[in-house]
Parts: sequence; structure tokens; C-alpha cells
Amino acid sequence: MDYTEGRGWHDPRIVPYQNLCLDPATMVFHYGQAIFEGLKAYKAVDGRILLFRPEQNMRRINISNERMCIPPIDEEFAVKAVKELVMVDKDWIPEEEGTSLYIRPFIIATDPYLGVRPSHTYKFIIILSPVGAYYPEGINPVKIYVESNYVRAVRGGTGYAKTPGNYAASLKAQVEAHEKGYTQVLWLDGIERKYIEEVGTMNVFFKIGGRVITPALQGSILPGITRDSTIQLLRSWGIEVEERSISIEEVYEAHQKGTLEEAFGTGTAAVISPVGELNWNGNIITINEGKTGPLSARIYETITGIQYGKIEDKFGWIQEVK
Ligand code: PMP
Repeated sequence: MDYTEGRGWHDPRIVPYQNLCLDPATMVFHYGQAIFEGLKAYKAVDGRILLFRPEQNMRRINISNERMCIPPIDEEFAVKAVKELVMVDKDWIPEEEGTSLYIRPFIIATDPYLGVRPSHTYKFIIILSPVGAYYPEGINPVKIYVESNYVRAVRGGTGYAKTPGNYAASLKAQVEAHEKGYTQVLWLDGIERKYIEEVGTMNVFFKIGGRVITPALQGSILPGITRDSTIQLLRSWGIEVEERSISIEEVYEAHQKGTLEEAFGTGTAAVISPVGELNWNGNIITINEGKTGPLSARIYETITGIQYGKIEDKFGWIQEVK
């Protein structure tokens, strides 16, 4: 679908997967004015094809658009477009447990223009790809490096928007963490390098002394849909969840006192990713002996159970594609 100033969004169409032909001066290549999303279609145990809270992804597109000076899309129309596309490619949805059809909507600025200003034209594209199970050998804890040097986002920046520049800015820290033997980076706030923000492509939760704590949404982290679903689930189970600032010192102290019970990341790709170890300036924080904790496992089983139609969806999160 295209956008032209004065005309709005127009010409939605489904075409075979193909290359884009763009002028070398196309603005997105130079100034990064773009946004994207990520969601999945699941084949349920009874054969139905299900989407998980797709309206939330489209809501987030408009939040990202607003920050990046991209004109808003019609969210309902975009959900319908995703459903129509999934129907076209439904035979590509793998059958095996844990697999899915990944859906990647994105918008790019398409004016051929050298100079910094918002584009007058855009393309909104949705591509699909079958993906394998995130945990082919069972849910597995990750080792995470606490980043005290580089910063991903600050309040007032673009951290809450799903825009490519945030990910480009995170690559260097990710590469260095990999070299040290860690899979992911835990970001700290950009001013004091003290408060926890998020992990790579996941929001993060800590269970300390029976309570669950997750950083509040204050403009520098992505408002994750899995984060929101996890909070709703935990509260429905009578577990207290605090959305507030949490410092890395608080986590370290809880570890020393023996009250740090679990830590886990949440995101569309993994659903839940238990954290087995944190390295904070050489201080090693081992969590739950490096094993998956019971709460992480329960949330994982419940959310994936709802996504694959195995558990009743009391929250109205599932939308059937037909
Ligand atoms: N933070 C970042 C930076 C991400 O890229 C993602 C993945 N979209 C998340 C958090 C988790 O968000 P969600 O649960 O909506 O996938």
C-alpha cells in the first residue's frame, strides 16, 4: 500500500514476493525514517489459524508512526490485511509444535530526496515467513551481559518506537557481548546507567521475594505485547506485579540476600526467555541455579497454550483467521 501527500494511503494489493525497485536517493536509505512490527500466525491443535492480539501491533505501528513523523494507518484495515495475507500463505504455516508464520509489517519513507525532512510518500509492506520453534530442545535459560558502556535509548528519544535505528544502535554492544560469551545485552538507563530498561528484543521481569517487578514504561523501552499479556496473566493468578524503576543494584542485592528467585525476558519471538546468569561489571549473578524457574515455565505454558488453542482464552487475545 502506498501513501502520497494529499491523497492518503491508497492502492492496497497482494503481489507475489519480489524485489523492490527504489531510487538510490530514497529517503529511508539515508535518514532511517521507517517503522516495523513483528507478530505470528499459529496453527492451533484443531487446525484453526490464530493470531495473538494483532490489534496491539497495529496500535503500536501508529505510536511508532507518530514519533517518526509517518502518517497514521487505519489499524482495523491493517489487521484485515494481515488476515487476508495469512489466508493466501496458510499452507506455509508449519504443523510442528512451536512453529509459526512470522508476519513483518513495515513502513518506509520513499521520497527520492537528499535533505532532512519527513518524506511526502511512503510504502507500507507486509512480508511473511515460516519460522521454526524458538526452543526446539525445550525452554532454555540465557546468559545476559549488563551493558554499562553503551546506551540504547534515553527518555525523549525513540526508544519506545519500533524503528530500525534503535536496533542499528544496539548492534555494537550485542557483538561485544557475544564475544564475551553472552547471548544478549541488558540495557541500563542512559543517564545514570543504573536503572534496568530491557533486553535485546525483550522486556524484562524479576521475581524478588515473591513479588514480580518490571521496569515501568517511561518512554525509553518498547511497550511489549508479551509484557502486557504477562502482567495481565500474573495479576489474574493473584501475583503482585510492580511496574516501577528497578536498579541493577537492587537485583544484585537481592541475589546476595538470596531473594532473587527468577528473571525472564518477554517477547514475540521466544514468548518467555528465562535468564540463568547476569554479568554486571564482572559480578556474576546466577539465577535459580541457571535453570528455568517455575513461574517462567508457567507463563510460557499458558501463553503458548492460548496461542496454539490448547488453553481457554479467557482474555480474548486470540483472533481466528478464516
Ligand atoms: N523490546 C524490544 C526492543 C523489542 O524489539 C521487542 C520485540 N518486539 C520487545 C521488547 C518485546 O515486544 P513484544 O512482546 O511486543 O514482541
